[in-house]
Amino acid sequence: MNLDLTPDQRAFQREVAAFAKAHVEPASARIDETGEFPWALVKLAGANGLAGMTIPEPWGGGGCDYVSYALAIETVARSSATLATILIVNNSLVGEVLARFGSDPQKAQWQRPLASGQATGAFALSEEHAGTDAANVEMQAAEADGGAAYILTGRKTWVASAEGANVLLVFAATRPGMRAHGITAFLVPMSAPGIERTARADSLGVRGLGCMDLTFTGVRVPADQVVGAVNEGFKVAMWALEGGRVAIAAQALGIGQAALDEALGHARARQVFGRPIAEYQAIQFMLADMATELDAARMLTHKAAALKPFQVSIAQEAAQAKLAASIAAHKAADTAMQILASVGYRRGSKVERLFRDARATEIYQGTSETQRMVIADHILQLRRHA
Ligand SMILES: Cc1cc2nc3c(=O)[nH]c(=O)nc-3n(C[C@H](O)[C@H](O)[C@H](O)COP(=O)(O)OP(=O)(O)OC[C@H]3O[C@@H](n4cnc5c(N)ncnc54)[C@H](O)[C@@H]3O)c2cc1C
Repeated sequence: MNLDLTPDQRAFQREVAAFAKAHVEPASARIDETGEFPWALVKLAGANGLAGMTIPEPWGGGGCDYVSYALAIETVARSSATLATILIVNNSLVGEVLARFGSDPQKAQWQRPLASGQATGAFALSEEHAGTDAANVEMQAAEADGGAAYILTGRKTWVASAEGANVLLVFAATRPGMRAHGITAFLVPMSAPGIERTARADSLGVRGLGCMDLTFTGVRVPADQVVGAVNEGFKVAMWALEGGRVAIAAQALGIGQAALDEALGHARARQVFGRPIAEYQAIQFMLADMATELDAARMLTHKAAALKPFQVSIAQEAAQAKLAASIAAHKAADTAMQILASVGYRRGSKVERLFRDARATEIYQGTSETQRMVIADHILQLRRHA
């Protein structure tokens, strides 16, 4: 069993770290402060190959392996969790779905712009009554023009990147009431008549995500914009979330590692009772636990990423990675706050931002309870009725 990164993986990690140091770190506090969608930075990240890392090269992507992708997301998230989420949505939840399920004309239209960052994608699954219960989608897609088109009506909530998106992957009920067996995925340009941005989420953390609620009023979508098969959209969404959860695990590791870095720096520098607080065993134990929990979660994350090309499904591995990494990140940010004390608690400190950002990783792309349900289903060999 070889746990070493390959020379290519290390080189890619160094490249992304240089990009993050030069461009992401200087922008991150302002993104958090203003809550504005970081248009220019997203374009720059795309121009530097970060928008479509795992998209095959013939479609303009980087053709990266999943471990490299996880390393890149962790590295970006050490500087900006917001940018990391935008890249994850674009890459895992839209780009990879097109690469796996899209038709050639769909790929020809969107794959290259998405992979290069010229276009941004968003993933619209959640609704007011369809969060954890994702199969309970109420948005309807009614057949029109003798099956040549669908008319979408309903409301989506918390659509990350919607503020900057050019194209949406939308999940709607083509057989209302049939839950997972009656949902279809559609590719819809954000400019389609009938889509209205109805609310902007002001959130605790990941504040530049451009999360919007979207109301669809009679939005006409040609039938050739169905992604995958009609009524098979729930499987498309769950497939997308497997990769997405590995990436959120990597994001959580980045947030947690940044918290550990801040805590280490402060513990060495801060003198109390005439000595650096790093000399007190209480502080040392906190740092030791942070490092150990993050490393354990990193192993699960890299395991899930490494298995992705070899297994039909990595649902359990991805859920375990996300669960462990998001808990480790939350704890690391909380402990860093304790070590920095008043310095960390000050509004505008990096640890204060990490503390708020970490929390999102336990909620989006399935809460921690959702991950536990997925894991329990696998270890108990249950078939939950979606
Ligand atoms: C910052 C942010 C960005 C987001 N981005 C997107 C996006 O881009 N696209 C998108 O489609 N969605 C997005 N979401 C929505 C996100 O996926 C949902 O918020 C999440 O799935 C949880 O759904 P909910 O908020 O409706 O919680 P609920 O489903 O209402 O759950 C409430 C609580 O009950 C628990 N719970 C529910 N059912 C059970 C059960 N059976 N057993 C035990 N506990 C249970 C949950 O774990 C949670 O603790 C985003 C959310 C946030 C906060």
